Amino acid sequence: MATAKTKRDFPLDRIRNMGIIAHIDAGKTTTTERILFYTGKTYKIGDIDEGTTTTDWMEQEKERGITIVSAAITTFWTPKSGPFKDQEIRINLIDTPGHVDFTVEVERSLRVLDGGVIVLDSASGVQSQTETVWRQANKYKVPLVAFANKMDVVGADFLGTIQSARDRLNANALAYNLPIGSENNFTGVVDLLTQKALIWQGDETGAKFVEEEIPVDMVEEVKKHREKLVEEITSTDDILMEKYLNGEEIDVDTLKKTLRKAVIENKIVPVLAGSSLRNKGVQPMLDAVIDFLPSPLDLPKTVGIDPKTGEELVFNNTKENPLGALVFKIQVDPHVGRLTYVRVYSGILKSGSYIYNSTKGVKERVGRVLLMHANDREEIEEAYAGEIIAVVGLKDSITGDSLCDENTPIVLESITFAEPVISLAIEPKTKSDQEKLAQALQRLGEEDPTFRVKSNPETGQTIISGMGELHLEIIVDRMKREFKVEANIGEPQVAYKETITQPSEGEGKYIRQTGGRGQYGHCLLRIEPLPRGQGREFESEVVGGRIPREFIPPIGKGVEEREDTGIMAGFPVTDIKVVVYDGSFHDVDSSEVAFKIAGSMALTDAASKANMILLEPIMKVEVTTPEEFMGDLIGDLSAKRAQILGTEKRGNSNVINALVPLAELGGYITAIRSMSQGRATAYIEPSHYEPVPANIAQKIVAASGFTGRIER
Ligand code: GDP
Repeated sequence: MATAKTKRDFPLDRIRNMGIIAHIDAGKTTTTERILFYTGKTYKIGDIDEGTTTTDWMEQEKERGITIVSAAITTFWTPKSGPFKDQEIRINLIDTPGHVDFTVEVERSLRVLDGGVIVLDSASGVQSQTETVWRQANKYKVPLVAFANKMDVVGADFLGTIQSARDRLNANALAYNLPIGSENNFTGVVDLLTQKALIWQGDETGAKFVEEEIPVDMVEEVKKHREKLVEEITSTDDILMEKYLNGEEIDVDTLKKTLRKAVIENKIVPVLAGSSLRNKGVQPMLDAVIDFLPSPLDLPKTVGIDPKTGEELVFNNTKENPLGALVFKIQVDPHVGRLTYVRVYSGILKSGSYIYNSTKGVKERVGRVLLMHANDREEIEEAYAGEIIAVVGLKDSITGDSLCDENTPIVLESITFAEPVISLAIEPKTKSDQEKLAQALQRLGEEDPTFRVKSNPETGQTIISGMGELHLEIIVDRMKREFKVEANIGEPQVAYKETITQPSEGEGKYIRQTGGRGQYGHCLLRIEPLPRGQGREFESEVVGGRIPREFIPPIGKGVEEREDTGIMAGFPVTDIKVVVYDGSFHDVDSSEVAFKIAGSMALTDAASKANMILLEPIMKVEVTTPEEFMGDLIGDLSAKRAQILGTEKRGNSNVINALVPLAELGGYITAIRSMSQGRATAYIEPSHYEPVPANIAQKIVAASGFTGRIER
């Protein structure tokens, strides 16, 4: 379909960069579809159950019915009431994935969103993954509007859902409208501020709604919830508060404006009722997006670092300022090739121009600039501050990189990703597969920064790692399908780590005198354990030139390489602080290489006296099941070294919360399905690392081919 040319130079206050975040199955895809329908950029509603949705264009997504890859879609909405009445608003919709193995996608989307709609399942309240994404949204201070979806299903409970958001998330979630009826009788909503009932005349997409008086039996309830909402809104503004306490009536426009400010400041999360599948409640939710979620002008100014001086730089979020933009996704599009998704924070990004990647220190040429609509793309000349666009032609820029003008370089805050917890070995079947594999892995790695590749020169194997079994499964699947790689795939392996349990010291001396110029590197290190999850630190306390300054970084490099390869069983060393405090050098023979080797030797020496242990990833597991399978499922978890945190009733189901070592969870999702006649589901996400029990650690060390003693 053809889309009319999008008007350029859109006023910034009429742009909403937003995303929809949700637990898998809460209805994110259906809701996105409805939004695209009502905002007029897609004509046929794709039905998830048949796998024809607009945003899920990748094959696996269609088959699995889950959204893996975020796509940025530009669309338009004109509210019929409220502060933006009759004004065309541009919505840039970032699609975020609904499965936790892809938390990375959520994280990176959140980094470039200005606001979000969190879709809740009214029949099951706030689920574990909702909790995770809600926390992530808080981390990036993303203002939220909540959509309590599935009001039509049996067990739907709007107020219960709000309560669970308040209890579990400590969020100031408040009813913004109230459902009229529920389950099969869900027909519409009452807007608490305007006190009007909106009734949909039918279930089908595009069914009209009419404004009516509040149903008589709801008058009291509406009054109660309106009072609560107004009280909370006014309490965020002193002057309004006083008026309210004096009994003055406050007009709806003022209340909406004040609520807008409160939402943007993360003080209130308005909750709206609806059923995307039954086409009810979506339009008021869109209005709420416009009325309450921030425009780029409501955001703090763009802050970054000048890469030359290290000083802080602040740009206004307008096109008159120098360019400041962030790459948040690489996607290989079947039609146009490598697409780099970019959020422009300030300035103008022009097609055909040269820009500077300040993270990498390289110049790049912008080929074409594309505005992505639901089912076509529009080529534009330039993209302005506040826009989200895709660029064709960038070669070196990857997710997290900053783009700017070469004359006014700025590095914006990058995007941080979690460490992978699981890995598997891949062996290409033939020489030609080996080449294809290398290509495939490079491409997939560019697209997904939580997916890592390492090659093991000894075995000739390639090791890939990721965030969970499903994550790796999908990567292997894409490798075979899209890149036609034939390979033997190993069993998934848990990403263990090594650490020390007590402080110690070590010495490394690398001295060679074999004619000509010799080698001389010598250092003394102190090591100590860091709190769990802290990672690694390296410092120098060398004084008086005992080791010349230029040899300190090579010592650090030697230490780091040794930490990477592992000391006890071949797993990376973590939660360790290394301090180099003394050493010596030789005027002629000292070199960077010699100090690097000395650093590595000193660490090995120190670690041999520091009582090393293995750590394993522990997963947070939430099993949802009908009552009758509870006993069996808990028994099974207990046999898996699980720590059962508790059980609770949620809607019609029972939920078991547990912490379980990842090593025990191979094939778990399939296993519980067969234990429960397909009715139990599990949600699994990485939690933290803990020491492996000694008897199990011994076996892991033995299997690693290391002796368990310190390897030199
Ligand atoms: P996602 O995993 O969050 O993207 O969820 P989907 O949009 O794929 O929806 C999951 C399932 O719930 C699908 O079978 C939908 O048809 C169904 N669904 C979505 N919204 C509603 C709703 O409002 N009411 C009902 N009854 N089912 C819904």
